[in-house]
Parts: sequence; C-alpha cells; structure tokens
Amino acid sequence: TWGSVREELQRTVGTSNFTNWIEPLEFSGFRDGVAVFSVPTSFMGNWVSRNFGEQIKHLLNEAGEAVHRLEFAVAKTATRTAPKKSQGATPAQTQTQAPEVELPGAPLDSRFTFDSFVVGKPNELAHAAAKRVAEGGPVSFNPLFLYGGVGLGKTHLMHAIAQELQSERPDLNVVYLSAEQFMYRFVQALRERKMMDFKELFRSVDVLMVDDVQFIAGKDSTQEEFFHTFNALVDQNKQIIISADRAPGEIKELEDRIKSRLQCGLVVDLHPTDYELRLGILQQKVELYRKQYSGLVLADGVLEFLAHRISTNVRVLEGALTRLFAFASLVGREITLELAQDCLADILRASDRKITIEEIQRKVSEHYNIRLSEMIGPKRVRTIARPRQVAMFLSKQLTSRSLPEIGRRFGGRDHTTVMHGVKRIEELKAHDNQIAEDLELLRRSLEA
Ligand code: ADP
Ligand code: MG
Repeated sequence: TWGSVREELQRTVGTSNFTNWIEPLEFSGFRDGVAVFSVPTSFMGNWVSRNFGEQIKHLLNEAGEAVHRLEFAVAKTATRTAPKKSQGATPAQTQTQAPEVELPGAPLDSRFTFDSFVVGKPNELAHAAAKRVAEGGPVSFNPLFLYGGVGLGKTHLMHAIAQELQSERPDLNVVYLSAEQFMYRFVQALRERKMMDFKELFRSVDVLMVDDVQFIAGKDSTQEEFFHTFNALVDQNKQIIISADRAPGEIKELEDRIKSRLQCGLVVDLHPTDYELRLGILQQKVELYRKQYSGLVLADGVLEFLAHRISTNVRVLEGALTRLFAFASLVGREITLELAQDCLADILRASDRKITIEEIQRKVSEHYNIRLSEMIGPKRVRTIARPRQVAMFLSKQLTSRSLPEIGRRFGGRDHTTVMHGVKRIEELKAHDNQIAEDLELLRRSLEA
C-alpha cells in the first residue's frame, strides 16, 4: 500500500517536496490503525506531519487501510550511514558525495536586472539601496532588508543585485536562494549528517541573499541555523541581503533576537505601485512586445486604462498585458479598449473588488446617519460608538488589515480597542436581530 501511496504523492507534491520530504520516509508498518514511519530527525517528522499528514492519511485510507493517525518515529540507528561502512567507495557512493562542493544558490532570472527595473516613487528607496549594495561602496548597509507585498519587485531587485555583483566582481562568492531552499539544504544536511559541510559552505560565502525569509518563521531549528549563519557572516563583514513580505518586527513566530539583528542594517520597503509606476512598467513591457509581435496596433488609452484599473501587483499587471498581446495576435485585431475589457474581464473584476476601510467607514456612517468625522473622532456615546464598532468589525472581516492598522485608521485607536469592538459586535450579532440585519445589508452593499 505504501508503495502506491508514495507513487501518488510523487505525482502530486512536486519533485522537490518529494525528494526532500517523502522519499526519506521509511514505512515501518501499521499498528492498530496507526501508520508508523521512521524518519531521520524529529524536525522532519513534524514537518511532514504538518504539511503532508492529512494527504498521506487520506491516500492510505483510499487505498483501503483504516488509518486514523500517522506516527513518525526518529530512527535511532542511523540506517542511512550504514552503507558507508563497506570498504572502498563504490562509484555510486562517490557520486552521491559529489554535490558537497556545489554552491547552494538558486539560478538567477536573466531578465531581472537593474536595467529592466522601472523606478518610481513607491520603489525608489529600495532601488537606491539595492544599487548601492550592488556597487559595494565603502559604506554599505548590512544587512539590507527589503520588504513589501506580493509582486512588488523584491525578487527582481535581489536577482539584479546578484547579477550585477557577478559581472562586476566575479571574485566574490555570491549566493542567492529562497528561505525555503535554505531550509531544504539544512534538512538535507541533517539527514545526510553533513552539518559541518553545510556550515562551512554557507560561511564561505561573500554575499548571502535569502529571499522570502518569512518562510522560516516558526521553523525552529532552521531559524536557529539561519541565525548562526547570519551572525558568522556579519562578524566577517560579509554582505547579507534579505527579503520578506513584511517588516522584521511584524513577522510572527520569528525569534526576537533574529528580528533585532535583521533591523540593525537598513530596512526599506517597496510600497504598493501607484498609477505612474504601473504605466511606466507597462510602457517598458510594450517596447519588448512590439518586437515580438511586430505589426500589432495598440490604440491610445489602453495602457492608461490598464494602469488605472489593475491592482498594485506587478505580476498581475504583466500577466494582463501578456494575455492581451497574445490574444490580439491570435485573432489578428487591433488592441483597443473594448478588446482589453473583453479579454481581461476576470482580471479587471478581481482588481475591482478591494474593499477599503474608508469605504466601510463611509457606508456605515451613511447607514447610521452619523458623520464620518464622528466615526473616527473621540466621542463615546452609544449612538456613535456602536456604528464605529460595526465599522471595525466589517474592516476586520472584509479587508486584510491587521488590528493595529485598523486602529490607526479609526483616529489612532489602540488595537485592543479594535479587538474589543470586534468582539462586542460578534456577541451582539448572535442575539440582536437588528444588528445582524444591519451587518448583512452593509456587507452586501460593500461587496456589490
Ligand atoms: P516579489 O518578489 O516582490 O513578489 P517579483 O520581484 O517577483 O515580486 O516581481 C513580480 C514581477 O513583476 C516580475 O516579473 C518583475 O520583473 C516585475 N516587476 C516588479 N516590479 C517591477 C519594476 N519596478 N519594474 C519592472 N518590473 C517589475
Ligand atoms: Mg519574490
């Protein structure tokens, strides 16, 4: 059974997941509805259990085994090192040991350069800092911490730094990888008992770039190792560049000592794109497409329309333009506003539906007939405080803002005030039909 489940997993979890996590599992058997596996480390067991546990259980049950729990036991005798006892290395063994010297970096996307990065107000600081680090002047920032939402250019900037360094300073050992890959490497080293090699490898790097570091938050032993690597490199004055989807202080489950080390260099953020930047990026892309799809006519106003209407994520923006050009060339038509509206209807719709706290405040004020200034003002009388709590509740529900952020938008209130307001409405909603109805109405009109 395990054999077939394993094959199914190989098809579904992706190659790197499979080789890193599933392949090393050794199936020991079933015991009273428990499927027992042996794993090289408890860390691995926890990881597999957390990320693939449900799926494995489900597949085993589908294959006819009544399994209600998985158990991951750490193998006491290191079965994996056993073959090494045999005298004289066989060719196969030499092969498996070869990758030790290989550099741990991930490949770089040759399109992600400084030249192709369009600079605007929202990203000028991040761009300038990246540029400075790539030039490696006498005063650099260490670590450089870049953060910002999805699709705002973090990975692009990091690749740009790496590629500039590689061409200007080929003597430097530059390593770029994602935090996820760092973790894979680390676990692999643990599993193969090559921690010394791992440490040595990372500590011999001149410039270390780790992308999406929020990924290691909560992964305790990986964090620990990252922290040591980090300190070792900083102590040797090696450059470190980190990116994350939020500021160091806001990464939950990241150890405080790591947060404070990450903050001690330069922390810069990429702001959501604005209209000008989006237009600039579109214009740059169009120049490329003009060569690729020669003969296509682009009507005036189409790019402006897209820059206005499509969300701040550059990846989505690029995707829209790519689709538009491909579609137009397929049907052999001029790219007009109508064509864009037609062919990008789903993207446009998705971009439209971003409910903001301001909208909520406005709608709720109207509904309860109070002033917007009262909603965010200090008054605590019930007739104003209750609508305010309703608006806080809806902000929590309908936007992705955090409690502190919501508090800030409500006249600088504390996050505990927001939490209390949200709770209060939650309670009321259960018994008070009027409130429940109000909420339903408001929600519908906001989502319309
Ligand atoms: P992140 O890593 O922040 O999620 P990426 O760096 O992967 O975002 O960027 C997403 C896409 O948008 C990439 O194709 C990237 O080239 C492009 N992009 C983002 N910002 C810019 C910019 N300022 N100029 C040109 N392209 C950009
Ligand atoms: Mg990225």
